[in-house]
This record gives sequence, C-alpha cells and structure tokens, in this order.
Amino acid sequence: MINIVLFGPPGAGKGTQALRLSERYGLVHLSTGDIFRRNIHEGTALGRSARSYMDKGELVPDTVTIAMLEAEVDAHPHAKGFIFDGFPRTEKQAEALDSFMARKDQQISLMLSLQVPEQELKKRLLQRGATSGRADDANPEVVQNRIAVYARETAPVAHYYKRQSKLVRIDGVGPLDVISQRLYDAIEQL
Ligand code: ADP
Repeated sequence: MINIVLFGPPGAGKGTQALRLSERYGLVHLSTGDIFRRNIHEGTALGRSARSYMDKGELVPDTVTIAMLEAEVDAHPHAKGFIFDGFPRTEKQAEALDSFMARKDQQISLMLSLQVPEQELKKRLLQRGATSGRADDANPEVVQNRIAVYARETAPVAHYYKRQSKLVRIDGVGPLDVISQRLYDAIEQL
C-alpha cells in the first residue's frame, strides 16, 4: 500500500494535483475540505457543525475531523492506498493518523509538501473565489485568516514528518504538468 500526505498552504494546488496522483497510481483521494463541503451541501449534522468554522477560515475541531477521516478510510477497505489532501492539518491529527494506520498495520509512505510563496497564494485564492462559489475564497479577510491559521497550526505538521524522514518539498510554482512530474518523480523514488 502507498499512502501519501499531500501538503501545502491553501491555494497551493493540492486538489488539482491530488486528482492526477490518484488516477496515475490508483489511489483513493480523500479531501477533507471536499468532504466537509459535500456535507454542508447535503445539510447533514456534520456539515452544520463544520460550516461556522469554514466560513471564518478556522479549522474544524480535531475530534470531528479525525472521526470523519477515519470513517472515510474505513469506507474503502479494498483501497490500494490513499492520498490525504487537507489532512492532517494539526499535529494532533498527524498523531491520530499514525495510530489509526498502525492499528491497520499500515503507515504513511511520504509527505509531499507543495511550496508556494504567499503573494502567489493570495492571487490564486482570490482568482478562484471569483468562479468557484466558495465563500472562503472570495473574502480577502477570510483568505488572510486561512493563511495565518496555516502558518500557526498546520505548517508545524511538516516537522512531524521530517522527524520521520518522510518529508519531500516540491516547488509548487510553474505549469501544472511540470509540478505533476515533480510529484511523480518523488513518488517513484520510493
Ligand atoms: P484550502 O486548502 O484551499 O484551504 P480545503 O478545501 O482543504 O481548502 O479546506 C477548506 C476548509 O475546510 C478549511 O479552511 C477548514 O475550515 C476545513 N478543513 C479542511 N480540512 C481540515 C482539517 N484537516 N482540519 C480542520 N479543518 C479542516
């Protein structure tokens, strides 16, 4: 099994690249952001509790997020592996993921971390906000808060994987195909 954590700030291109990786390697793509948005759209209890946090650009609480992620993994018992997109976003989530995988005799193979400068992120998010219909992209204050939350709560998760020698940094600026190739190269080195 190969299990990849695709990491990077909001607007780094995780969603686009995760889709390509999941197709190329036959992995199940789990995007916590997409799962939350689907729940909001469907009006579930989970969606109702996630919404207030997402609208402000805050993280959904760990207990809620971890339980949801574990249920999604368990819903794919025959998967060849997973691409985790948008998870883990806190050290608590990273620890929970490790012990959850260990209980299944599995582990994270590597973390691919997309590196994109802050100015470029803001530009991409506001551009996406004009067409995506995502309220959290359209409001500059919320975009700024997501970037701040990333720096404060999520960036340290990279150190967690670095300590396990699983962190690979990938330049996330350039044509999409070039970035994909950088990711493929890192995976094929495994
Ligand atoms: P982006 O990476 O562009 O910010 P996502 O779709 O990954 O977009 O996430 C959107 C929002 O969903 C986040 O701002 C946060 O509120 C919530 N969210 C997604 N993943 C997590 C997570 N692992 N932990 C807590 N909140 C999350």
